[in-house]
Amino acid sequence: MRGSDLVARLGGDEFAIVRGMDQTGTAGLLTLAERLLAGIRAPYVIEGHQIAIGLSIGIKVVQPGLDDLQQIMRHADLALYRAKSEGRNCFRLFEIEMEEQHQSRRQLALDLQGAIDCNGLPVHYQPIVDAVTLEIRTMEALVRWPHAVQGMISPVVFVALAEEAGMIHQLGEWVLTRACLDAASWPEHIKIAVNVSAIQIGQASFTNVVARTLTTTGLAPERLVLEITESVLLSDSDHALTILHELRSLGVSIVLDDFGTGYSALSYLKMFPFDEIKIDKSFIDDIAVHRGCAAIVAATTMLARAFDMITTAEGVETREQYEFLRTAAVSQMQGYLFGKPAPAESWDFSSKLRLAVSA
Ligand code: C2E
Ligand code: CA
Ligand code: CA
Repeated sequence: MRGSDLVARLGGDEFAIVRGMDQTGTAGLLTLAERLLAGIRAPYVIEGHQIAIGLSIGIKVVQPGLDDLQQIMRHADLALYRAKSEGRNCFRLFEIEMEEQHQSRRQLALDLQGAIDCNGLPVHYQPIVDAVTLEIRTMEALVRWPHAVQGMISPVVFVALAEEAGMIHQLGEWVLTRACLDAASWPEHIKIAVNVSAIQIGQASFTNVVARTLTTTGLAPERLVLEITESVLLSDSDHALTILHELRSLGVSIVLDDFGTGYSALSYLKMFPFDEIKIDKSFIDDIAVHRGCAAIVAATTMLARAFDMITTAEGVETREQYEFLRTAAVSQMQGYLFGKPAPAESWDFSSKLRLAVSA
């Protein structure tokens, strides 16, 4: 730093530097950011251990007379946030669109809270069928958000928003309760699958939430299936494994969703005895045209059998894919070929359990 720079610790692991503009202008600030990144990221050896420290930087160029202190700090924060969300260990310069994006995301988060509070998130159900008999085994609960202005918003978008804004526990509990209540009125051999976010599993009391929901809705634990992704096991896997074993001892089944898309999925199969794995749609999409995809699906099915796990292929859309999956001996299938997600009222379990596969 220069003698004229002001360096301050804002708290925790946050620091600020105030530097007066010189003839190097913004370019000088970027050089400074690069030097800071290189300097701080260089490995340190502490008591024989090599320690690497990460750093993300947000830069705000102050407009004299236009910016007040609060605004300067907020803009620097937004730029920092952007650096973090774009992979960390980098710097970002504040741009006005960051403010606009932040505002609209904040508005959307407020709308989402409103929707959670007044039952504005209907839950739809999609069947998972037995590959041989085509009978419905399970219904997967998929939450929907019909937004008054923006129309249908994808759960991929608003579930991530709920996670970010700390609303995922409330959202997750709502879906779980709704799904268990609906399923309690269905024939007993039909199970209900509910997607659970990694953040929900991170909560120490998650098992209690599930146990309480089963009691209040009267659903038998054996009929509840929780779908998780491997991201659950990514960070604090000891804690996650404890929770998964607790859930299992309640009688609930655990499914590994989106199998094949993440990092080292095979080691996760050893970490926890999942009841079922769902082979990701990306492999099913190309199964009829890409030999590699067919091989992956066949190998996964064999592997699962060795671990006593059921395999479900998701996103089955065509008759051709269905035939390939039958050959690969997948145990269950799910996809538009058998039925799209729809409200509980539109499913009739009493009359005909067999779903017709259209040619
Ligand atoms: P997912 O758990 O992998 O769910 C399957 C997604 O694939 C659903 O999208 C479903 O509508 C879609 N799908 C099923 N069959 C087909 C098909 O044949 N073709 C195509 N093109 N798509 C098919 P959706 O409902 O938009 O949900 C997207 C994701 O949002 C889900 O992926 C899940 O990760 C998440 N999600 C949905 N509801 C919840 C929830 O209640 N809680 C949590 N934590 N996540 C949820
Ligand atoms: Ca799922
Ligand atoms: Ca999936």
